[in-house]
Amino acid sequence: MVLCTGNPGKIAELRALMPPDMELLSLADVGLPADLPETGATLEANALQKARFAHERTGLPCIADDTGLEVLALGGAPGVRSARYAGEAKDPAANMALLLRELATATDRSARFRTVIALVDARGEHVFEGQVRGRITTDRRGSGGFGYDPVFLPEMSDLTFAELDPVRKNAISHRGQAVWKLARFLAERQR
Ligand code: IMP
Repeated sequence: MVLCTGNPGKIAELRALMPPDMELLSLADVGLPADLPETGATLEANALQKARFAHERTGLPCIADDTGLEVLALGGAPGVRSARYAGEAKDPAANMALLLRELATATDRSARFRTVIALVDARGEHVFEGQVRGRITTDRRGSGGFGYDPVFLPEMSDLTFAELDPVRKNAISHRGQAVWKLARFLAERQR
């Protein structure tokens, strides 16, 4: 199965979450560029676009994910634009700085992470979704994880995603839940 991402943080998380007997290949392993086209208007469209692109070129089962941080006070932004929120450089520090500025006067800091995973193989197309609710902190906290982790405080936790250990993060995260649904689907299909 090909994991259609060039993001090392995601690759590490997906490897830890997928069944251990499943052989996982990176885009580099199959000779594809790390940045596949993602021009859709939704997370679902982008995940499907990337998985289809890789499947058409390799013939292998391909999974792709797309994640967005949806902030209530910003009407669901940055959402599908989360990676490029502060510009094309996809710089996590700049993205977080812009987010904290935009929320400087907000009283409601509720947010959620949503992940959509698309599986495209010879048998068809499937999507799996996971989400986690939480709040945006007022300052960055912690050095683990990646992306917006230092400013996301998941519900029922005093620690940001960047302060939690990776096993705890995976157990509750948006991506963890979507991968769990994918893994259950694959296991049931094998029976
Ligand atoms: P992508 O489109 O799935 O690559 O992710 C969109 C944006 O969300 C990027 O800026 C990522 O760094 C960020 N992101 C994705 N997953 C996570 C996560 O688990 N924690 C924090 N940020 C994330």
